[in-house]
Amino acid sequence: MKKTNILLIYTGGTIGMVKDYDSGALKAFNFKKLLKNIPELEQLDCHIDSVSFKNPIDSSNINTDHWIDIASIIESHYESHDGFVVLHGSDTMSYSASALSYMLENLAKPVIFTGSQLPIGDLRTDAKENLITSIQIAALQKKGKAVIQEVGLYFEYKLYRGNRTTKINAEHFEAFASLNHPPLVESGVHLKVYDEYLAPKKRKRKFFVRKSLDNNVAILKLFPGFNQNLLKSVLETPNLKALVLETYGAGNAPTESWLIAELKTAIKKGLHIVNVTQCSGGSVIMGQYETSEQLQKLQIINGKDITTEAAITKLMYLLGSNISSKTFKTIFETSLRGEMQ
Ligand code: ASP
Repeated sequence: MKKTNILLIYTGGTIGMVKDYDSGALKAFNFKKLLKNIPELEQLDCHIDSVSFKNPIDSSNINTDHWIDIASIIESHYESHDGFVVLHGSDTMSYSASALSYMLENLAKPVIFTGSQLPIGDLRTDAKENLITSIQIAALQKKGKAVIQEVGLYFEYKLYRGNRTTKINAEHFEAFASLNHPPLVESGVHLKVYDEYLAPKKRKRKFFVRKSLDNNVAILKLFPGFNQNLLKSVLETPNLKALVLETYGAGNAPTESWLIAELKTAIKKGLHIVNVTQCSGGSVIMGQYETSEQLQKLQIINGKDITTEAAITKLMYLLGSNISSKTFKTIFETSLRGEMQ
């Protein structure tokens, strides 16, 4: 039987970092050299190729151009490879996995983001398990078709839907959570695939990549004591087209008249505002409390149970796709890649 072809895409992150001799800080290193130090990869039952960013980065430096780079690499290897593993720093991995989930239209192959909390050369590293299992998951096939046909994120024994994840811990090996969607695969003695939670299999629609993202967007998190000047200065940001408003609990905000008036004026001027909860789990339910009734009346977009990471990248993607302002709210409130209810 033909071996599956997997492409490893190294963008940077702790997984491939080494300690700077002088300062002791971790910095990106030539991944090809490091790969040679993982003889375990030879034992896997698939063929592995790798591509690396010319200048690997700490993922705190990631921007929309890097997402286009990752998407373009996948695009140019889509026919020749059966699955993709993207090695990426964990800090912004949930943003990147969310962005890629929108950019890769009609994706019918696995794209698995992974990384690690300790460098691959470290004695106690979590990198080897994350890397090896991600490759095995990307290589899973059933009746000649990929088992996973979406963008996932694998960390510490669990594969999640990428656009459902959030980094929740800067120290633990279990760095990610997906509170509003269960894991797609769990790794124990066996790989347990939860078919019922996977994205539906794709009909034969042509795969293509959307490379236009608009980053005229912002995130504003409410806090008690939040004042009008701050709100005004954000809403008056030149060229701002969309805002993720991180509200309390089930989508609640203060009922102060200045807040509602400022939001109303901004919406009138054409700003798209999405209500997303600050909680890591659960959903916005506009109108459940008096404190969200006004937002509902303003026709603010309901972010339901979407994460902030998936919301901000969805805005960039929809703005880049030139969706008309009439349909913007309806399209945002529709689940495009399983990112919301
Ligand atoms: N700062 C690193 C990064 O995100 C952390 C990691 O790799 O997990 O690139």
